[in-house]
Amino acid sequence: MQEITLTSPFDMHLHLRDDDMLKLVAPLTSNTFSAAIIMPNLVPPVSTKAEVISYKNRILEATKEDEFAPLMTLFFKPYTYEFLKSVKDEITAIKLYPAGITTNSEGGVESIDTVALASTFNAMANLDIPLCVHGETNGFVMDRESEFMSVYEELAVAFPKLTIIMEHITTADAVSLVQKYDNLHATITLQHLIITLDDVAGGMLQPHLFCKPIAKRPEDRDALLAIALSGNKKIMFGSDSAPHPKHKKEACGCAAGVFTSPIALQVLVELFENNNSIDNLDAFVSSNACEIYKMKKTNKTVTLVKKDFTVPLSYDGFNETVVPMYFGQTISWSIK
Ligand SMILES: [Zn+2]
Repeated sequence: MQEITLTSPFDMHLHLRDDDMLKLVAPLTSNTFSAAIIMPNLVPPVSTKAEVISYKNRILEATKEDEFAPLMTLFFKPYTYEFLKSVKDEITAIKLYPAGITTNSEGGVESIDTVALASTFNAMANLDIPLCVHGETNGFVMDRESEFMSVYEELAVAFPKLTIIMEHITTADAVSLVQKYDNLHATITLQHLIITLDDVAGGMLQPHLFCKPIAKRPEDRDALLAIALSGNKKIMFGSDSAPHPKHKKEACGCAAGVFTSPIALQVLVELFENNNSIDNLDAFVSSNACEIYKMKKTNKTVTLVKKDFTVPLSYDGFNETVVPMYFGQTISWSIK
């Protein structure tokens, strides 16, 4: 295979930040992807209709050269049915963070009490608004996701009509659970299909591979890769591409997040081709998201060719510098 054309690739979990960083990174997604689910963890988090609309307009301004749809989300709080009905046309999902679990999540929920929060979850189910969840506890870093499985089960059972997305799953436990309940679905990042904790901290510390949830064991990575390559209808690509300024990554107190937007599709083609699964790539990067989120593909296509692409050491502009995964390394596929 020397060339492949993808129709309407979606990134179902993306951080675009704001201001200068937004201007630098947004076009690095919009030049290849047709749409992306935009995370709401700005400071302060996006939690009113006016904030959703104004953030969406800033994204559209930054991506105006491309045909690209920002699929907006609200930061989860206890919301009323009336409010959600009034904002429904402006959002695609609501993102729930346990408090303090990752970048700018301090305003998240302290505990996921399915009784106390029932009216919001029921309103979301009635209005057909999916719930995206950052599923980690505050426990030991390697166990945080597995410890959260009981919360996902409780949500799945208590709200069977609510579409629940287990965001950026990283463990074999999550791969099993997502297949157990009809209303559970999941996104997987690029890096979690490829790396383990060894790649982050097994040798010299690699700050540009450090993210939350942290990369886990080889058997976890293998389970994630297997279900993604299979085209399983519950699984979508969500890069969780999370840019931080270079000086905040290469620092004592490295910020969590891997920046993958500009390399994601090239690496995915390489990965699916090397694993004889290229026929399932469309399911992973487009069709499954359409079914889960009840969306249609757009007509946007992106063609990749088998030609070496040396990843830049950094992307610079608007007074920002951000370092991508695989900086300085060569990938065997390029965007045509
Ligand atoms: Zn994220």
